[in-house]
Amino acid sequence: MKKVEELIKLFKSKDLKITPQRLGIFKVLEGNATHPSAESIYNEIRQVYPTISFTTVYKTLEVLESLGEILKITIDAGRKYFDPNTIPHHHIICSQCNMIADVNEGLEELKLPNEILDKFTPSRYDISFYGTCKQCA
Ligand SMILES: [Zn+2]
Ligand SMILES: [Zn+2]
Repeated sequence: MKKVEELIKLFKSKDLKITPQRLGIFKVLEGNATHPSAESIYNEIRQVYPTISFTTVYKTLEVLESLGEILKITIDAGRKYFDPNTIPHHHIICSQCNMIADVNEGLEELKLPNEILDKFTPSRYDISFYGTCKQCA
């Protein structure tokens, strides 16, 4: 995700509204490596803007996603998490508490077979590993 000042410029250039609430959401996401859910972003922003609606939070996340500024990690239909780190990387997810950690190394050599590359041009990747975190073990 771009820095907040850059995001403001980007939103303005696309005629997207900048509100104090949206700025608050940007700040919650900036440098956030915890892969928060929409609900946890909502709970955090509500401390500052008690009247903000969940819809406002979710819509802002969708706009950021459509601009390619954040990634959505979908574990299953009911569990979606957001990642402001858009540099390609993988994740490991605790099946007990849903904690998500980045996997940045060790997979550089992963290559798709030629028969797949004949049929597809990959544009992004995100492999999810599942396990149990130390706290839950
Ligand atoms: Zn856990
Ligand atoms: Zn991540």
